[in-house]
Amino acid sequence: AKRRGRNTCQWYTEDLNRKVSERVSLRNALQHAIEQQQFELHFQPQMHGPSGRVVGVEALIRWPHPERGFIPPGDFIGLAEDTGQIIPISDWVLDTACRVAKQLNELGLGRITMAVNVSPMHFQRPGFLETIERVLEESGLAPDLLELELTEGVLMDSAEQAIQTLQRIRQLGVHIALDDFGTGFSSLSYLKHLPINRIKIDRSFVRDVITDHYDAAIIDGVVAMAGKMGLEVLVEGVETAEQFAYLTKRHCDYFQGYYFARPMPLKALLAFLVAPPAL
Ligand code: C2E
Ligand code: CA
Ligand code: CA
Ligand code: CA
Repeated sequence: AKRRGRNTCQWYTEDLNRKVSERVSLRNALQHAIEQQQFELHFQPQMHGPSGRVVGVEALIRWPHPERGFIPPGDFIGLAEDTGQIIPISDWVLDTACRVAKQLNELGLGRITMAVNVSPMHFQRPGFLETIERVLEESGLAPDLLELELTEGVLMDSAEQAIQTLQRIRQLGVHIALDDFGTGFSSLSYLKHLPINRIKIDRSFVRDVITDHYDAAIIDGVVAMAGKMGLEVLVEGVETAEQFAYLTKRHCDYFQGYYFARPMPLKALLAFLVAPPAL
């Protein structure tokens, strides 16, 4: 037993060493990517159900790594937050997204909002408001075409400070969406103090919505509450025609998901916008 204990311990150490060195090499590769501007943005359409219009897009970062291939954001955003590299990355995302949004809105295809994911660290940094003002000015984008997506966690954390920053952002005319709604420890009492425009219902409630009455009840509840509070509801992760039809019957208005479109490069997005599918 003793021997096995030692081996187990050694195995853990090797495992830990491997993890540490993987993180170090990922951090170095990220640094290189930041300096070489290796990132790309893909865009996923957001649909308004009743009109069938594409009313917005969400910008999602992509890292095409020369040797390792495509690295999804879930594999590097967390590390970038730990190392602080999220700051230059987020600045690049905001700047690029606003420039693209400006272009999209000059095509004569109607109003298309640009949703950008905001990392907690970026949001909590002094000067975040000024960053928003600067990117709007430099891109020439109308503030109400920009939507910042924040998760519940950020808003619960440094609540007082966070709410003040949010109010200032709202005063600029920029929109705020509460991302992944329902996955954090949603204290509903907070919701009434938050100057948000939209709730994004997390896709975990959508997957089994047709068969799981609890999921359906939660969605009904959020839709009813949001309606009374003057908030829009967008449902994420809609993958099938059945889910879309079901959610439409339950009075959901805004949708995003593979059923409508996957995140795509700008060129493909332009083609999609010119000829969107009939809903
Ligand atoms: P998120 O903000 O919840 O973004 C939605 C994620 O769900 C995206 O994954 C998208 O590709 C995926 N998705 C969309 N529709 C469907 C669907 O119908 N089914 C399924 N299964 N998935 C769907 P992605 O692009 O891998 O991004 C993962 C997360 O990484 C995002 O979750 C967001 O938290 C973060 N992220 C992405 N881009 C950025 C960024 O530019 N900045 C920051 N700070 N975080 C980002
Ligand atoms: Ca998001
Ligand atoms: Ca989400
Ligand atoms: Ca998420």
